[in-house]
Amino acid sequence: MTTRRGFLRSTVFAAGALPFINRLRLPGFRSGSVTKPLVLSTWNFGMPANKEAWKILDAGGKALDAVEAGVKIPEGDPKVTSVGYGGLPDRDGHVTLDACIMDEDFNCGSVAFLEGIMHPISVARLVMEKTPHIMLAGDGALQFALQNGFKKENLLTPEAEKKWKEWTEKNNYIPYEKTNHDTIGMIAIDKAGNLSGAVTTSGLKYKYHGRVGDSPIIGAALYVNNDAGAATATGVGEEVIRICGAHTIVELMANGYSPADACKAAVERIIKIKKDNIKDIQVGFLALNKYGEYGAYAIQNDFEYAVYSETENNILKKSDYSFR
Ligand code: ASP
Repeated sequence: MTTRRGFLRSTVFAAGALPFINRLRLPGFRSGSVTKPLVLSTWNFGMPANKEAWKILDAGGKALDAVEAGVKIPEGDPKVTSVGYGGLPDRDGHVTLDACIMDEDFNCGSVAFLEGIMHPISVARLVMEKTPHIMLAGDGALQFALQNGFKKENLLTPEAEKKWKEWTEKNNYIPYEKTNHDTIGMIAIDKAGNLSGAVTTSGLKYKYHGRVGDSPIIGAALYVNNDAGAATATGVGEEVIRICGAHTIVELMANGYSPADACKAAVERIIKIKKDNIKDIQVGFLALNKYGEYGAYAIQNDFEYAVYSETENNILKKSDYSFR
């Protein structure tokens, strides 16, 4: 269990510090008020994504629709080189995409190792809504998308192709580097108090062909339990999968942890497993509970996340939310 002091400290920082000190509540002393709607997403490209999601939330729409619409912004933006169109390819020059989505009723859908589709998140949603399955991968996911009206497109931009070619010459196929990833994970609570989340990525650049990360794995990069909270992840997917990151965080919140304390506990599990070998590993977690309280934690200092609500439209950097 989190200590009382830990809870207070993390809640203050998680809420973006002192202006939001009125959010402080001790476990068992909640007023019952919920901050909603609210949307959070990883990294600075979360800002335009949140803005899009906010339109739906503010109009009284569902968190599920908001997170899908939100993450489609970086998916379609060729300047974002780690998500969708414009994503850096694998070591063989293929842009391969992973995405998943989950709603307030444990419905979930996902696609992995999908090529040629601009909005994998919408395919993941269709898997959730139109099939008896949760996950489709590779060519099967592509065929399903095409049968449902999606168009096949070339997602490898000339800029991404140029970088990949330079890399193949310089690095002789080392498919793993520190500063080469950034998934969008978005979680939201709507006016009805329902939570949902979405994650989408082109994964680690120059990864092995066929590599699938945490992003399409329910319980790793995303988990939602409407009675407790929602969590999402970014960073080296292998480390997130190893500890079932998002599910771990949601379970911790169900057991009374604040969102920030839950994220910190998950990061600490990774640090414990990797011992001293975390210098080159970034993993960042983001969590939101059923009260609309939120927090984050990451291994490295460069993690940042975007928050949008009636009172905020901010990017929070580690110095804003860390209590280390
Ligand atoms: N988690 C993603 C993956 O491992 C990459 C990232 O978020 O940076 O594919």
